[in-house]
Amino acid sequence: MAPNWSELDRKHIWHPFTQMEQWTSSDPVVIERGEGNWLIDTEGRRYLDGVSSLWVNVHGHRRTEIDNAVSEQMGKIAHSTLLGLAGLPSIELAEKLVRITPKGLNRVFYSDSGSTAVEVALKIAFQYWRNLGYERKNLFVTLEEAYHGDTIGSVSAGNIDLFHSVFHPLLFRTLTIPTPFPYRNPGLTPQESCDKSLDRLRALAENRSDEIVAVVLEPLVQGAAGMIVHPKGFLRGVEKICRDHGLLLICDEVATGFGRTGKMFACEHEGVRPDIMALAKGLSGGYLPLAATLATDRIYEGFLGEYTEYRQFFHGHSYTGNALACAAACASLDIFENDAVLQALEPKIALLADRLEQKVGSLPYVGEIRQCGFMVGIELVEDRTSRKPYSPELTIGARVCQNVQKYGVILRPLGDVVVLMPPLSILPQEIEKLVSATVQSIQDVCGKYSATH
Ligand code: PLP
Repeated sequence: MAPNWSELDRKHIWHPFTQMEQWTSSDPVVIERGEGNWLIDTEGRRYLDGVSSLWVNVHGHRRTEIDNAVSEQMGKIAHSTLLGLAGLPSIELAEKLVRITPKGLNRVFYSDSGSTAVEVALKIAFQYWRNLGYERKNLFVTLEEAYHGDTIGSVSAGNIDLFHSVFHPLLFRTLTIPTPFPYRNPGLTPQESCDKSLDRLRALAENRSDEIVAVVLEPLVQGAAGMIVHPKGFLRGVEKICRDHGLLLICDEVATGFGRTGKMFACEHEGVRPDIMALAKGLSGGYLPLAATLATDRIYEGFLGEYTEYRQFFHGHSYTGNALACAAACASLDIFENDAVLQALEPKIALLADRLEQKVGSLPYVGEIRQCGFMVGIELVEDRTSRKPYSPELTIGARVCQNVQKYGVILRPLGDVVVLMPPLSILPQEIEKLVSATVQSIQDVCGKYSATH
């Protein structure tokens, strides 16, 4: 008899961001296989992967080219260290990354997750100034509601109270500027909210640039904050202030990278060239844990010197530059090129936008739909006119995402924001299904709640 996988999971697995008391009284879907844009559970039920397995999958599951690249690499070696040795796939991938990222990012430092990619970026920026003799530079500028991961450094750069407040005593201090987000500032136009945020950054840069290490932000879209899309021109405005005042700019493209926003990287939309860029999630096509932090030659050269000067970057992980993960990443980047993935994406983004507007926009429970490429947040509210939120203990977002499973779709909320983030390989008919199942589930859950309260 097959083991009861659900029961074994409840017995042994501690799930991330999960109240385990609830989990252990649920009957979780146990995924056994993947096929294209679909996940298949141990009962043989099929689910459309509506959030790309937490924003990582790019070209679908079991993609032949990536499967083959990983198998082929396995026939050579799975892993060897980058401490004291070089490794073939890591070199090949670094060359590809330098070619496709914004100009100037010529140096690649590998790690394993989005959090470590940001952690590395913060430490590189900090040590860079120390190496140059700037002892007073101790502060990073961050955005309200920023999310950069869960290690202590990346949590320090984050500002989502629900996740971060408990760790406050462990965190380093940052300077924070307002998120340019008119939805939460109904009196302001997008331009006014953009100006407000840039004015605050300019004031900090004018008065405290001798203390500031870098500005850190998620370019264009603050994903974990609920798919907050910045007004046009904000990113370029930040870059200009950084250049005018000699501040470093760190762009965290962990969520936005690899086609998510319609271009390979979000920075491209505004022609921005950061000093340091953090990549992960879609880097390996969603196959294996892999991250990269890219830096300019100027930053890199700040670490050069005699061994005894101790200017080398003091950071590294056991699996840095893992050969299987780098082979998967190279194959994923080849697919982008060979299949002209970004061109094929344009009409799909338009189709998704159209269906959202037609089918979701009219629902009485929807306060706002935010979309940038294939990053979508649907904000559920109790009252559409006043945008009154649902009471948090109702966990409406979680209920909608739980309920949508019965329509054969996997979604994952951010509070009461329902996120749609499908693989770039999703087909038009699958977009139709994704949207209609989401509508159905919102109607089921919000309709029921509205009727009983
Ligand atoms: N940075 C951003 C912008 C993210 O959205 C995330 C994860 O959602 C991270 C960093 C952390 O990535 P990981 O979960 O791989 O550590």
